Amino acid sequence: MKKCIYCNTELIRAELHTSSELTPVIKKEKAFALDFFRSSSDFAPYVCSKCGFIAFFLDIPEIFSDENY
Ligand SMILES: [Zn+2]
Repeated sequence: MKKCIYCNTELIRAELHTSSELTPVIKKEKAFALDFFRSSSDFAPYVCSKCGFIAFFLDIPEIFSDENY
């Protein structure tokens, strides 16, 4: 469970909607183009229903670990 760092309320997963047809991803800065799918991850905003804080979390944070970087 993810909690708000300001008021300790449970964060709720939401969806990021953009004007683009493409789903945004977070990608490793120096990854090669052919490595795109192994070096990028979907992410989602988590919102606090009490104070309005928003945090983004990667679905696959391991792509940024030392051994994968
Ligand atoms: Zn909060």
